[in-house]
Amino acid sequence: MINNSLPSIIAIDGPAASGKSTLGRSLAERLGYLFFDTGVMYRAITWIALSLDMDLRDEAAVTKLAEEAQIDVRPPSKQDGRAFDVIAGNRDITWDTRAADVEGNVSVVSAYPGVRRALSAQQRRIGLRGSIVMVGRDIGTVVLPEADLKVYLDATAEERAKRRYNELIQRGEKADYEEVLKKVIERDRIDSTRAVAPLRPADDAMILDSDKMNAEEVLEHVLELCK
Ligand code: C5P
Repeated sequence: MINNSLPSIIAIDGPAASGKSTLGRSLAERLGYLFFDTGVMYRAITWIALSLDMDLRDEAAVTKLAEEAQIDVRPPSKQDGRAFDVIAGNRDITWDTRAADVEGNVSVVSAYPGVRRALSAQQRRIGLRGSIVMVGRDIGTVVLPEADLKVYLDATAEERAKRRYNELIQRGEKADYEEVLKKVIERDRIDSTRAVAPLRPADDAMILDSDKMNAEEVLEHVLELCK
């Protein structure tokens, strides 16, 4: 049963690999809410564009793709660490969206105003239903400025790169820490300097520094804020 005094719309924003998805997923589980990771939509568009061999600098073509693409985010069909399935057409692209070429290009795609317009309209429609934890870069500032609780999760680039590096190694992928760090810094730079909906904390966001907190401590802290 959902307690009426709990915040119904919870926005979690922050830079790459700050632990937003881990927090969002476990928070949603504890509250019995829907977990929606908006980065997945930008990743899916980037993956489709790359798989079609599109020139990602062609803003008009990428925007048209974002307006027309059928991306579905469904409950997980497999227990392989995924929080949900990402489906494009009939294909399960859940893990494809985490690939290095997607990660290296997603910030270019997500900086296009038309792409943002198309995707954030869908995100807002879903978010307004409530009982939701929505994770991204602009949820508290643009997508759902009326959110009942806004959390901005931060950590140093080095700490975030360390976590991303460990994740890759755990998944059995090859990784180089310095490379991962460079990419994290570059993605943050593009995400926070773009003209539309740049990454920044909302004025009324609770800013949490997760450098010295583990995932469990961050979750407990945010559950306290929910009360
Ligand atoms: O959170 P995640 O790393 O999956 O996001 C991938 C990329 O999608 C980000 O680097 C950013 O460029 C973009 N994004 C965004 N706005 C959001 C969520 C993600 O621009 N709300």
